[in-house]
Amino acid sequence: MARTHNLGFPRIGVRRELKFALESYWKGQSSLEELKALGTELRQRHWRDQSALDLAPVGDFSFYDQMLDMSFTLGNLPERVSSFHGDMLDNYFRVARGRSAESAEAHCGGACDGVAAGEMTKWFDTNYHYIVPEFTAATKFKLDASRLLEQLAEAKAHSVKAKPVIIGPVTYLALGKAKDDSEKLALLERLLPVYAELLETLAAQGVEWVQVDEPILVTELDADWQHAFEQSYHSLKRARLKLLLATYFGTLQDNLQLACNLPVAGLHVDAVRGRDEISKVVDWLPGHKVLSIGAIDGRNIWKTDLNATLDWLEPIAEKLGERLWIAPSCSLLHVPVDLDSEETLDADIRSWLAFAKQKLAELAVLGKAINQGRATVADELATNQTAIDSRKNSGRVHNPAVKAAVRNITPEMGKRQSHYAARAAKQRVHLNLPVYPTTTIGSFPQTPDIRQARLAYKKQKISVDEYTAKMKAEIEHAVREQEKLGLDVLVHGEAERNDMVEYFGEQLDGYVFSQFGWVQSYGSRCVKPPILFGDISRPKAMTVGWIKYAQSLTDKPMKGMLTGPVTILNWSFVRDDQPRSESCLQLALAVRKEVLDLEAAGVHVIQIDEAALREGLPLRKSQWKEYLNWAVESFRITANGVSDETQIHTHMCYSEFNDIIEAIAAMDADVITIETSRSDMELLDVFEKFEYPNEIGPGVYDVHSPNIPSVEQAVDLITKAAERIPAERLWVNPDCGLKTRQWSEVIPALQNMVSAANALRANA
Ligand code: GLN
Ligand code: ZN
Repeated sequence: MARTHNLGFPRIGVRRELKFALESYWKGQSSLEELKALGTELRQRHWRDQSALDLAPVGDFSFYDQMLDMSFTLGNLPERVSSFHGDMLDNYFRVARGRSAESAEAHCGGACDGVAAGEMTKWFDTNYHYIVPEFTAATKFKLDASRLLEQLAEAKAHSVKAKPVIIGPVTYLALGKAKDDSEKLALLERLLPVYAELLETLAAQGVEWVQVDEPILVTELDADWQHAFEQSYHSLKRARLKLLLATYFGTLQDNLQLACNLPVAGLHVDAVRGRDEISKVVDWLPGHKVLSIGAIDGRNIWKTDLNATLDWLEPIAEKLGERLWIAPSCSLLHVPVDLDSEETLDADIRSWLAFAKQKLAELAVLGKAINQGRATVADELATNQTAIDSRKNSGRVHNPAVKAAVRNITPEMGKRQSHYAARAAKQRVHLNLPVYPTTTIGSFPQTPDIRQARLAYKKQKISVDEYTAKMKAEIEHAVREQEKLGLDVLVHGEAERNDMVEYFGEQLDGYVFSQFGWVQSYGSRCVKPPILFGDISRPKAMTVGWIKYAQSLTDKPMKGMLTGPVTILNWSFVRDDQPRSESCLQLALAVRKEVLDLEAAGVHVIQIDEAALREGLPLRKSQWKEYLNWAVESFRITANGVSDETQIHTHMCYSEFNDIIEAIAAMDADVITIETSRSDMELLDVFEKFEYPNEIGPGVYDVHSPNIPSVEQAVDLITKAAERIPAERLWVNPDCGLKTRQWSEVIPALQNMVSAANALRANA
């Protein structure tokens, strides 16, 4: 009998109950008891949702983050919160979110200081962010199993077939940060006894299986880290329970033998991303071990092709018998909870989708088919087949004209007419800009008034004319303010956009939007990625009307504002029936049309944001090149159809370019604006060293903080920039868009920024 199990369930709640409960508690509007009670309710509800499985995860629920949970379980709290005496959960939130000195003052009457929040970073290649464990050479660990034991007791009380889930020691260390640059691996010896104690504690509760997540096994590991695996699992093998070592998000490759041979009772592998590797794993895995096959995509929202999966799984089941387990590829944390709550999704498209609950139902069908024969689930399989076929053959998915356009892409389409230097000379004459030209990144404050107008329009409470008039007034306001400030290249302010991806997705054919398809991004924050389901085309211009209007108000150049294809792709749920690169090229062709329409409408500066280019980097460095090739090519196809006189800008809001500088240069944008104000311009070193040839606008104003930069600070930053990049290739701008700020902050900040540019021009 093959067993079915799940690696983790989304904890946010089908209506994002956890989000609202957390935020209400943090604002002081509800009690800790109420928050904890909601946690209990969610866990029980989610176990009920998983009751058809042979084993359900316990400990996957978290009030903020599973890595932070693990830090607390291991007693690895940052020094700065160690003296806190209140409720453990409050201290947990202090690490997660930090606390300013002022709010600490209010909270403790001055008896405690502010604390910095723990650093957050991306969880592998997902859009989930975890709190980075902090280490020093002196770090000691001490078991606190209370959270797990409580949840386990709860699970037992509800007769859940419980399988506790923990992050494994090697992944835990690998994802943490040594604050003093000490060698993290040196801590392993101190860490392992605490893991052993934890396993012993769970064994004492009668636990049979523990899932130990070690996704770091799908990344490149050097010999020391491989050895850490040997050392860890040899030391934990005395545990009186069975370990299921869980890997996911990719293939094992060089770590395959290592993973197969570690002294554990079972191995979970991602058979969605790593399908080709499974036969090798079947061959290598010692005969006493369980193999858990992650056959259902835990990272995407498409229905599984159950018959095809069974065709593939049945021979493996034959071979493995009792030793086969089946599961989703990874925790379902990365997909929305329940498709049943969607009321407005198009019926066709809806029939192609599966969210977390539907995926578990698929798993149950697979399990039954394998254990009792396909005939016992004939109806389910037939319905599934209908949906799979409908998607495969749908005229809404497949648009021959779009496919042909992608096939007909020529290398010329990705190339500008001339090299940068020749273009820059023409643009200088054409745009007539001073040295240190000033601009902003696109958005201006999204006031409650704007948000209300957008919402009212969406709900058809105001007419299209009323809405348009409202947005035009807002654009005019933004233009007049920028003129008063004396900025050189203006923007329209993005009042009409809710989100830089959704705005475009809504206007492209091939996209749909869910109502409740929320996925946790970090803490209480969720995103609702649009669903790219079909070949992409642009029925009509998306931004030209607004930008043309904005340009008509001023003699200054108006910058057209678009989101690039790579960013649209990376922030969406994408198709699994064609390579990402193909979808990206389709997006590129659609946005390219918009670029050319803007140019034809007299817009001579066009910015194409690629905020998420870096986010798409594969987990293995060996695959970076391939990704960057098609990503950069997609950008080039989008941007490079314009004449030499038209100036292309791109914007990226992060600060790590060392390892991708070549690709950034290959994008060949005339101007790139980046986030630099907090790095004191050191980030420009890599551009200097690489002799980056085009123009750069290093941000001189940190938009994430309400602080208003002084003229001196801005002058200082620009001067530092000019030590690295020749002044004639420098722009002056903020780090990012200003949509989250208030006008009262933006005006003085930009005034100082413009004054700084003027002061430097006077000396130039
Ligand atoms: N143009 C966008 C804005 O200003 C860019 C946002 C981003 O890069 N995240 O809001
Ligand atoms: Zn940005």
